[in-house]
Amino acid sequence: MEQIKIYLNYIKDIINGEEYLSDREKFSLILHICAISHLLFAILFLGFGNILLMLYNLLSFLVYESMVTMAKNKKFKLIIFAISVEVNFFVILTTLAYGSKLYYNLFSFLLVPASFYITYTAKKYKHPFAVSVLISAISMAVYIFSIVFPNDNYQTLYDYSPALTIITVVSNIAITFILLGIFSFMYTLEMRNSSATLENRTRQLKQLSSVDPLTKLANRRSMTEKLNISMHLLKKDKKTFSVIMGDIDDFKKVNDTYGHDCGDKVLVMVADTISSQMRDGDFVCRWGGEEILILVNGNIEAAKSLAERILAKICQNVVTHENKNIKVTMTFGVAQANESFRIEDFIQQADNRLYYGKTHGKCQVVAEIPNIINS
Ligand code: GH3
Ligand code: MG
Ligand code: MG
Repeated sequence: MEQIKIYLNYIKDIINGEEYLSDREKFSLILHICAISHLLFAILFLGFGNILLMLYNLLSFLVYESMVTMAKNKKFKLIIFAISVEVNFFVILTTLAYGSKLYYNLFSFLLVPASFYITYTAKKYKHPFAVSVLISAISMAVYIFSIVFPNDNYQTLYDYSPALTIITVVSNIAITFILLGIFSFMYTLEMRNSSATLENRTRQLKQLSSVDPLTKLANRRSMTEKLNISMHLLKKDKKTFSVIMGDIDDFKKVNDTYGHDCGDKVLVMVADTISSQMRDGDFVCRWGGEEILILVNGNIEAAKSLAERILAKICQNVVTHENKNIKVTMTFGVAQANESFRIEDFIQQADNRLYYGKTHGKCQVVAEIPNIINS
């Protein structure tokens, strides 16, 4: 009971696209379906008193079931070959015995979508087109043979057991349609899964190409996109924005004294602290080695107070490395965007202010360089 529940959930997940059928599972499923169909045929032929065909179907059932191990060993080519030969052989046998009115010939017809589906979806299958066309051609020949072969044994069979004959015809038609449905459905799943996989990969790639792996901050490329959008909104809607350029003070010394790993820890701490201070509409990136650029949704005053808040938080934090506490400070340069400036111009302005801060004591926020000549 528990097993059935697990199985049903699995089927549900496959239908919902949360689980994928592996090639092995696909082949096993097809083999089980073939095996069960032959078991049903064996019972029907027993009813008709045709012991030879009953034994043939019983044997087919056993062969199909034992081929499931072949699916586990990924002998897919052999399986496709065996199925095609067996199905067509079975159609010829039943045609010779009873003609085409029992509709066993529908199974030749079914080999066409089956061969295309199997060869094209099983991975690493060489020459799927040639194999499918060959199987289709042979199956078509067998189908034509079944129709033109003169045999009226159907009538004697019908007289012998009308109920069983009708059951045979109905079940053959039903099995064919059910299998056609299963193949079409599996094909649809395959299509949906491959487009879902593609979407996931694209998302992952996008993530990889826009995020700095160490700090998990956005990288320069995604910041450039954001800056372009903000510039556009400034020109169109007069939506003010500013930038903060930050650089860790004496970072080289941290690396030289405590090692590169410790430097990395400091970078992560700085990134986390800054991220925790971001508000909606703000955007932070790792601009360069230990330079951080923040896009602030507001004017220069708003940016300045944000930078001061960040600086205070960073000064409060310590990074512990090999039982040593390392204090970190940063210097920030702030600039407001201007419609008549290019993006590079006000980033340069923020950088100049940062440089001024670096040469005037570090650990500070500079939003304006004092005009010494005028004072
Ligand atoms: P200043 O106060 O003037 O900024 O001095 P500084 O020592 O920080 O000088 P500078 O900004 O030129 O130093 C940059 C250093 O950052 C040099 C480089 O080795 C280091 N760095 C850059 N990226 C990384 C990184 O990913 N990890 C580590 N550990 N160090 C990095
Ligand atoms: Mg530095
Ligand atoms: Mg630097």
